[in-house]
Amino acid sequence: MTKLFKVFYEGYSASDVEQLRVNRKWGLPGVKCSVCHVTWATIGVAYPSVDLSTLPEEKQYRRLWPVPLDELEDRRRPLLDLLPNGLVPPPGTDLGPLVGTGRGAFCDFVWVDPWTLLAQPEVLERLRKSEVHLPRSVPALITFKKANIRELVELELEPRTLMARAAFPNEVHQCRACGRNDATMPENIVVQRSTIPSDVDIFRDRLMTTLILATDRFVESVNRLELSGLEFREVDIA
Ligand SMILES: [Zn+2]
Repeated sequence: MTKLFKVFYEGYSASDVEQLRVNRKWGLPGVKCSVCHVTWATIGVAYPSVDLSTLPEEKQYRRLWPVPLDELEDRRRPLLDLLPNGLVPPPGTDLGPLVGTGRGAFCDFVWVDPWTLLAQPEVLERLRKSEVHLPRSVPALITFKKANIRELVELELEPRTLMARAAFPNEVHQCRACGRNDATMPENIVVQRSTIPSDVDIFRDRLMTTLILATDRFVESVNRLELSGLEFREVDIA
């Protein structure tokens, strides 16, 4: 039976040996909701493979200042055909590859922030050879100087699992207009078993999109290959 692990790295922010300065090319803005009266943007949802360079309205996806609901819908509509698996991007979704510069000594896995995971391409190749099912990976457009690496790719981690409602101390409400939920990360993470994907071994949660989860197959291979830059903590499944 599958086990699930939270994927994180305590060392990422303390590290001053690796320096990464990156920006995302495009995005969907945050929303000013007239129904729940909250201005917000999601954190963690990113589709680096989505290329907006051919859209006539490409420039408007560089402006990320929060917009009213109807304007959000206008900007979201042209994206629906471009996203994988019929996904509907929430406000604040990051789009396109990372662009920037890097220097220093990097681990096998590299974090931009606690919800954005990159890796050296040959590292992912080794994992694929040990039968780990990885999601699509996209080259980050990073220029390296005085670095131990020349290239990084970003894992396109789709929101797949759903945390069990019972994991949250209070009832979770969702706005019918903008889709915002008021859940905060609970002490004990509990994931609904029926939502664990079978086609991929690393993904993020749909309710808590900053939470990256991996199967025991992923964790065992990373440990066996002694890859650096990741830590794991087992979570509950219900
Ligand atoms: Zn709302």
